[in-house]
Amino acid sequence: MQQPWLNTPRTPQRLSTLDNVEAILSRAGEAQCQHLPESEAKRLLQEYGIPTTACLGAVTAEKAVELAEQIGYPVVLKALSPRIVHKSDAGGVRLGLRNAAEVDEAYQDILAVARTIDPSALVSVQEMAKPGVEVIIGATTDPHFGPVIMFGLGGVFTELLEDVCFRLIPICRQDAQDMIVSLKSAPLLTGYRGESPKDIAAVADILWRASELIRTHPEIIQLDLNPVIVHEKGAVVVDARAVLA
Ligand code: ADP
Ligand code: MG
Repeated sequence: MQQPWLNTPRTPQRLSTLDNVEAILSRAGEAQCQHLPESEAKRLLQEYGIPTTACLGAVTAEKAVELAEQIGYPVVLKALSPRIVHKSDAGGVRLGLRNAAEVDEAYQDILAVARTIDPSALVSVQEMAKPGVEVIIGATTDPHFGPVIMFGLGGVFTELLEDVCFRLIPICRQDAQDMIVSLKSAPLLTGYRGESPKDIAAVADILWRASELIRTHPEIIQLDLNPVIVHEKGAVVVDARAVLA
C-alpha cells in the first residue's frame, strides 16, 4: 500500500539539469513573474536533487479529487498563485484532508478566498508529510556581502528567539553540518529528552544543494524553503518560494 506522506526523494546522478532550470527561469521571465509560485519553485529544487512534496495544480474540484486519489490520502490543498505569498494567512492552506468530500470542500473554500486576491489563482494538491521537526532554509543577497544562506528552526525559534545562522554562499557540506549544530536549538534535531535524533545529514544536504542552486543561478535573488520537515530518516521541503532579479 502506498504511504501517502512518504515523499520518495530523488537521488540524481548529477547535481542539476541546467537546461531544465533555464527553462523554468525563462518561463517566469516570459510571464514577467518575479515571484515563482510554489509549484515552479519546487521544480527548481527538484532539479537540484532537493526532495519536495509534489505540488500539482488543479483547475477543477474533480481534478483536485483525482490528483488526491493518485497521491493517496491524507493530502494538503493550497492556494497557488505568485501573488499570494503568505498562503495560510490568506486562508489558503488546508491540511490533513482524508477523502474526496473534504478535498471538494477545501477546493471551493480556497478558490473563493484566493480569487479575491488573484483572479487567476489555482489550487494545488500535495501529499501530507508526516510530522517532524520544522526547519527553515533561506537565501538572500546582502548589498555588501553578496549571496548568503540562512538556517534556522521553524516558528518561535527563528522569529522570536532569532536563533539563526548565516553563511556566505558557497558553502561546502561540512559548513552546512556546522551551521546546523551551531544553533542553540540544535538539540531538537540531535535528540532531546528522549526524542529520537533527526536526519541532520539530510538537512545538511539540502542546505548545500540550495547554496549550489544560488551559486549557479545568481538571478535567483531570494529563496525560502519554509518549512523543511525533518524526520528520523530524510527531510522534505513542503513550502518553497523563489524571487528572481
Ligand atoms: P505559507 O507559509 O504560505 O502560509 P505553507 O505551505 O508553509 O504556507 O503551509 C503552512 C504550514 O502548513 C507549514 O508551515 C506546515 O506546517 C504545514 N504544511 C504545509 N504543507 C504541508 C505538507 N505538504 N505536509 C505537511 N504539512 C504541511
Ligand atoms: Mg511556508
